[in-house]
Formats: sequence, structure tokens, C-alpha cells
Amino acid sequence: MTYRVAVAAGDGIGPELTAATQQVLDAAGVSIEWVAAPVGKAAAARCGEELPWESLETMRELGVVLKGPLIAERLSGGALVRAPEGTRTHPSVNNGLRRELDLYCNLRPVRGFAPVSGRYAAMDLVIVREVTEDIYSGIERSVNEDCGEAVKRITGQASRRIARFAYDYAVRCGRRRVTAIHKANVLHKTDGLFLRCVREVGAEYPGILSEDRMVDAACYMMVKDPAAFDVMVLPNQYGDILSDLAAGLAGSLGLAPGANFGETAAMFEAAHGAAPDIAGKGIANPISLILSGALLLDHLGEREAGDRVRSAVEMVLSEARVLPADLGGTATSQEVTDAICSACEKVTA
Ligand code: ATP
Repeated sequence: MTYRVAVAAGDGIGPELTAATQQVLDAAGVSIEWVAAPVGKAAAARCGEELPWESLETMRELGVVLKGPLIAERLSGGALVRAPEGTRTHPSVNNGLRRELDLYCNLRPVRGFAPVSGRYAAMDLVIVREVTEDIYSGIERSVNEDCGEAVKRITGQASRRIARFAYDYAVRCGRRRVTAIHKANVLHKTDGLFLRCVREVGAEYPGILSEDRMVDAACYMMVKDPAAFDVMVLPNQYGDILSDLAAGLAGSLGLAPGANFGETAAMFEAAHGAAPDIAGKGIANPISLILSGALLLDHLGEREAGDRVRSAVEMVLSEARVLPADLGGTATSQEVTDAICSACEKVTA
């Protein structure tokens, strides 16, 4: 069967990485018809809007999206064109996409690889980050020239929803432990609420060990002993920060995949940004988007093919012959991609 998947190549290194991922998913033996749904700078050049209504409609209709990274800039004015309900503004294109597609969960499974991850080669944790609220809700103002304020908004409904996702994920993927990350000793009414909600949901899953950690202690622990964590559930900002920390421990942002889930749509993207400093040079590490592509295959029900891609990446990294610059090698993005495609043919999932 042929799946139909929306693709937004993105900005900066996005188009290079998206093409690499499409090539690998093809090598994994899954037939996908890619339907272009441009957003970001490419969309703006074509129709004057970074978040065109047509692209959103394609994404909503197909329900599965592969997205390259976007340059994170505040959108000005009406973000959408021809939106029936009128225009809405969003803090950024990424934020707008999540809101328009009702994506509330950002999933980032971050693991280490031998030998490139050094002493973190055995790290294997999953970050489940709430992405609709917290300090990124966009409620921010200048009080005067020398003072600004932002509102940290946490609701019980969103906290319970992300907690349920984390516990369901743990059950589905054979994980044993869910750790809630917070600063409830200081932020009683926001993080305190988040923690209460996670505990409430966790009580419904007696087979999963429930724990919690202060965010500062969690950072320390992650660096000292990442094996202390399995699935972590976090409000938006802590999830953002700890994802990059985990990617850094694994060895590079270029190794960390990501997926965003809502009730009716799923979007797969790398954990890193558009890296304009290396765009067009052909040296970006394509692995995080390729691993996001493996998550996309899982989501389509093609778990075996997803495993094949993961094993191929593991094989290429373990041989350490074809490595991109961020992992200390000299291989181009295309050479890394070709090596992963050849490995796909060799590995039996
Ligand atoms: P954002 O705010 O969107 O996260 P950023 O500029 O803070 O963007 P990135 O775009 O992720 O962060 O880039 C951070 C650094 O990591 C840059 O030096 C970039 O070149 C590097 N980097 C990011 N992704 C990759 C990649 N796939 N391969 C190699 N280097 C990368």
C-alpha cells in the first residue's frame, strides 16, 4: 500500500534533511506519496505567508506530516491566509503549526550510540513534553522600558492529558517508569498543579513506577546518571531545555528525533533548529530527522521498517567510518544518508 504524507521541507538545513529522510524511508521499503505542504520561508516566497491555509488544510487532511526545522521568528500580523474563521496570530510558525493542528505532545526519545556518545552510549530516555501552555503561551508584556513580564499558565486539563499520553506511551512501549519534572516547591500553583495531575493519572497505572524530581535536580541527575530516567513528563519549558540537554549528552543535537501528537494529527521533526550557519553546505547531520522518520513509520503501523531504519543508523554510527562533522567526522550529509540507506538493506529488523 502507498501512504500519503504531507511534507514541509522547512528553512535553513531543512530541505537537505527532508530529502535525506525521504531517501531513507524509501530505502526502508515503505511506499509513501509525499504531498508538499510548504510553511516557513519557502511558503512566504511563494504566497507571502509563512503559514498558508492551504498547507494547513493538506496537513489536516492527511494527518501525518514530515517537517524540516523552521527559523524561529515571531510572526507578525495575521499568520494565515484565507482562514474561514479569520486570521489568528501565533508567536512563531512552529507554535502556529502546533496550535492549528492541535498538537499537544512533543515526544523526544533520546538515546546514546556507541562509540559516538562516549560514556552516555547506554542512555535511553524518552521526553514527553507538553507544548500548548506554560511560559510559552505567548502572554508576555513590557511593563516599562526596564521591566517585562510573561505568564506561566498551567491547566489541570492539559497536565492530565500529557500525563495520560506519557503513561500510555510507557505501557505501549514496555517502559517501566514515568518521572514528572517540576519545581513545585517554588511554583505551588502552576508546577504544583502539574505534579498533582500527573500523580492522579499515574495512580491509574499500577504497573508503571511513578516518580518525580525537581527540574534542577533532574538536570544534575541526567548528567551524573541518565539511567535514573526512563519516560519523563514535563511542562513546556522544562521539556524544551531538558531535550537539548539530553541531545548534548548523546553527543549532538543531530542525534535527537522528535514527534508531535494530537488527537487527529502527528508531525515528525528533528529536535534541533534550522541551523542557518551551516545551511546549504551539505554538512548537516541528517540523523535526527531520519530517526524522526522512523517514528513516522511506527505511527503508520510500519514498526518493522521503523526498526530497520533505527538499526541502520546504529550500524553506521557503530562502524564510525562515515560520520558527519558534528560527530567528529568529515562525511557530507549525502554520504551519511547513502551509508544509512545501504545499511537498511543489510540489517534484518
Ligand atoms: P532554534 O531556536 O530554532 O532551536 P538555534 O539557532 O537555537 O535554533 P539550532 O538551529 O538547533 O539552534 O542550532 C544550534 C547549533 O547546533 C548550531 O551551531 C547548528 O549549526 C548546530 N546544529 C543544529 N542542528 C544540526 C545538525 N543537524 N547537524 C549539525 N549541526 C547542527
